Amino acid sequence: MTDRKENLLRVKERIAESARLSDRQPDDVTLIAVSKTFPSSAITELASYGQIDFGENKVQELVSKHQLIGNEYANHPILWHFIGHLQRNKAKDIVGHCNLFHALDSSRLARALDTRLKHAGQHLDCLIQVNVSGEASKFGLEPTEVDAFLDEIAEFSHVRIRGFMTLASPSPDAERVRPQFARLRHVLEASLDRLLPDSRPILSMGMSGDFHVAIEEGATHVRVGSAVFGPRSYGMTK
Ligand SMILES: *Cc1c(COP(=O)(O)O)cnc(C)c1O
Repeated sequence: MTDRKENLLRVKERIAESARLSDRQPDDVTLIAVSKTFPSSAITELASYGQIDFGENKVQELVSKHQLIGNEYANHPILWHFIGHLQRNKAKDIVGHCNLFHALDSSRLARALDTRLKHAGQHLDCLIQVNVSGEASKFGLEPTEVDAFLDEIAEFSHVRIRGFMTLASPSPDAERVRPQFARLRHVLEASLDRLLPDSRPILSMGMSGDFHVAIEEGATHVRVGSAVFGPRSYGMTK
């Protein structure tokens, strides 16, 4: 068995275990394999083991990998997640290249996306990025801003709000960020009736070091990079 196959199985087992601890089914939690900086061949390798969801955080890298691989590989579907900060002038570039955008954080960006989507005759499922860490440097809305933000973007009908995403503070001890994940769950619970109707609400939280805790706190999507692909070395993005 290859390293990546073994990593994938190990992460999936851990996901299943945490799902059970929170009284859910393993299938209730989607693993997004964060493939940023890894070559397209790493994506198709994982796809051949049945992995469906992949995450990228740079527009150009998302677009070039999507153009190369497309929406399926060897009869396995592939779903693309854009998990990075998106500048308003690049909104047009992700349209048609991702299935779920995780980092909606301003009404100007929502407007730019909506305009492009309307022209393309498409809709895009989006998550609102919320800053639950209290750190000033992070992107995302404050939890207290979410309600007014939902009002502001209500007119943008091509942008479909499916839930919320957060980046917890990096910490060697995952337990320390548990309250941050709980905070995002509370944001979701308070906004449930304002999300796209008849669809499963999404909570995107948890990375390699803390996804087990995020799942216990209600994550429906975890974004796991290095625990699946191995350590990243920057500068190698093709
Ligand atoms: C890189 C990245 C991840 C994955 O990080 P790992 O620690 O490698 O699991 C998750 N979310 C976002 C937004 C990222 O940029």
